[in-house]
Amino acid sequence: MSKPNLPARRAGAITDEGREQVLKLVEAAAQEHLKQIDDRRTWIAEPERLLARFEGALPEAGTGAERAIRQLIDDGLPVATNSIGPRFFHFVVGGVTPAALAADWFTSLVDQMAYAWAGSPLASRLEQISIRWLLDLFGLPARWGGVLTTGATTGNMVCLAGARQWWGEQEGIDIGEEGLVRQPPVLAGGYLHPSAYKALAILGVGRARIQKLTANDTGATDLPALERALQALGGKPSIVIATAGDPNAGGFDPIEPMAELARRYNAWLHIDGAFGMFAACAPDLAHLVRGADGARSVSVDLHKWMNVPYDSGAAFIHDLRYLARAFHHQADYLPDADDPHPNFGFLVPEMSRRARAFPVWATLQAYGRQGIRALVEGTVALAARLAAQAEAAPDLELLAPHQLNAVCFRYHPPGLDDAARLDELNTRIHERVIEDGRVYFGATRYAGRVAFRPTLVNWRTREEDVDLLVSVIREIGGRLHAEGL
Ligand SMILES: *Cc1c(COP(=O)(O)O)cnc(C)c1O
Repeated sequence: MSKPNLPARRAGAITDEGREQVLKLVEAAAQEHLKQIDDRRTWIAEPERLLARFEGALPEAGTGAERAIRQLIDDGLPVATNSIGPRFFHFVVGGVTPAALAADWFTSLVDQMAYAWAGSPLASRLEQISIRWLLDLFGLPARWGGVLTTGATTGNMVCLAGARQWWGEQEGIDIGEEGLVRQPPVLAGGYLHPSAYKALAILGVGRARIQKLTANDTGATDLPALERALQALGGKPSIVIATAGDPNAGGFDPIEPMAELARRYNAWLHIDGAFGMFAACAPDLAHLVRGADGARSVSVDLHKWMNVPYDSGAAFIHDLRYLARAFHHQADYLPDADDPHPNFGFLVPEMSRRARAFPVWATLQAYGRQGIRALVEGTVALAARLAAQAEAAPDLELLAPHQLNAVCFRYHPPGLDDAARLDELNTRIHERVIEDGRVYFGATRYAGRVAFRPTLVNWRTREEDVDLLVSVIREIGGRLHAEGL
């Protein structure tokens, strides 16, 4: 039974008017957009000019839903980066599958409050099921718990808050109650992601307190140095962070021996596995994360390699009680701490939260273990193809051996060996490639050299997209070099 609209007595009152049209508009625009997705430019030249159409003061009388949505589509779509397209290799940006897109629309349709069972049994149960399936997918113990997060930054923060709580309890302090009266020692290698620094800063540990134990100029953890540092703590508890998949070249810390050291020296091992944990989904790659079940917490991104729309990630932990003690505070109007229903809002910084489980559940239900495995193996094979081309081309130089889905290389024409000129040339190539708009990827400094670092995670990417990436770089590089750079 449909209810009558609220009486529209006040000027501008919100009504149901335009609902059918706007939903149809979005559906039609989506179908059209997705039909052209393979051919769209990755990056829009002069975004400022197009964005000027949105300028203006706050409307007194609104335009109504239909005109607003029409403007968003007509003026917005042409300036949106084509980050869901097959040739967007910057950062580690996943695409969107049909199941995930539809489930994400469903999320806004039912707009569930995923703090507690009392807000949404549906969201709570599907989050519980998604966590169980994800633990299985990543080969983590079924007895562990977890919670969905906005991404790996929050995942790292949530896990490290659990680690901080554990450390405090080892030292006789309930940090959730008393605050951070002392800081835990934190040990990590050079792959440590900026998000982990961010998380430790938020948690009051402080970025400068991280003891970095790096084996070489590419960042891998120095195991003997880690053991000496743990020994020097004389049995006192500490936190160790391992990175599974560094965004420069897909490097992995030695997880199994780090887990062994953590066990021996009373450390909480956390693994930042934002995209690298997906190695567990492919039998030939699973050795990269062997031993992860010996950690105490693991964070992953689902909006990267699982191709769920932003924002989506997960934090897994061997014992959820540390999270509850870090994050939960009781109030009379909230469910009891011992409520038998799942209340995921007890385990994370947010209270009101989006029901992120819907697209996660739908992805796993729609494509299954095989679908994720095919996605991981397929993109890794494309990365191998790219690495092989970078190695074979006379004017390209592969800078790190390929092992996952990130390929680190640079343009290096024969005869040009001046380090500063090579850096300058590669910086300029990168700028031009982005303006060009056929492909898009990030640049970095790897072992001191300016380098390209495309990462492959999108289910839409095919061999011809990778081949185009190589030919665009060689074409633009050749032109700039001929111009005397
Ligand atoms: C992307 C990434 C993060 C941060 O994840 P967000 O989803 O951007 O918050 C953390 N660690 C690693 C290794 C990453 O690649």
